[in-house]
Amino acid sequence: ATPTAVTVGIGRGAELGLLIRNGEALEVSEKLTAIVFDKTGTLTRGKPDVTDVVAFGVPEDRLLSVAAAVEKNSQHPLAAAVVRRAESAGVGIPASERFNTFGGLGVSAVVEGEEVLIGNQPFLEERGIAVPPKAGMRVTVFQDVGKTTVLVAIGGELAGILAIADTLKPTTRTAVAELKRMGLSVMMITGDNERTANAIAREVGITDVHAGVLPQEKAEEVRALQVRGEVVAFVGDGINDAPALAQADVGIAIGSGTDVAIESGDIVLVRDDLVDAVAAVELSRKVMSRIK
Ligand code: ADP
Ligand code: MG
Repeated sequence: ATPTAVTVGIGRGAELGLLIRNGEALEVSEKLTAIVFDKTGTLTRGKPDVTDVVAFGVPEDRLLSVAAAVEKNSQHPLAAAVVRRAESAGVGIPASERFNTFGGLGVSAVVEGEEVLIGNQPFLEERGIAVPPKAGMRVTVFQDVGKTTVLVAIGGELAGILAIADTLKPTTRTAVAELKRMGLSVMMITGDNERTANAIAREVGITDVHAGVLPQEKAEEVRALQVRGEVVAFVGDGINDAPALAQADVGIAIGSGTDVAIESGDIVLVRDDLVDAVAAVELSRKVMSRIK
């Protein structure tokens, strides 16, 4: 039977904006040694905007319209940012065919008879697109200020770079500082590249960063920590995060996250506020001290 203190704790959690889906999560939270955050949509708002458009050998409008034609098919937050930018620039968005998505890498489709690739640099290079040093340098400059860069190739040639920025949630820094003060190791995991990840981590106050992690590898990273003896909480919002939320000792899902993430979480942050994750750990410590 669930001890009364846990039941009371679940009720108290509800008042604090925590949907605690199993009492065990509350018991385990007291023993946590590490807390791992997904970046996009968890530490950041997950509502990115295109801030810079750099075209190579094609007009900027054409770059945007072709990119949007492909991204219209994608559910990714980066894709929404590209489509929004094309719409606000008032460029027409042509039809596309043979759309394909490569999780954690990018997307492709055929637009007006030309093959279009959009994604990170390794994705384009793997497919034989040359990224000249001058373009590579533009990419690193954007990444070093925390922007995610998406490269666009049209007909086998690099046609441009789109720099995309996402802002931190207002309480991210405070929540991370509190969790560290409580003695937890705080880490970040992201599919984004290392430079962007490090720039965001610096802003947040996290030094332990795992970047370039493919969707299917997030749970593996959590498992590796557990093998090392860590008791791990994972905080995430995306479809990609569901396996890691399930693997973690305590899965903490963002309330506005995808349904799959919420279903995989033990605790749901109803208000999307990371300070509520701190409240969850504090609550579990209080509840468990009452049981012992
Ligand atoms: P995150 O862990 O930040 O949610 P993902 O694993 O979803 O990131 O994606 C990792 C990287 O793959 C992105 O930073 C981007 O470079 C590339 N990518 C994924 N999907 C798309 C897309 N629809 N358009 C462009 N780039 C994409
Ligand atoms: Mg996310």
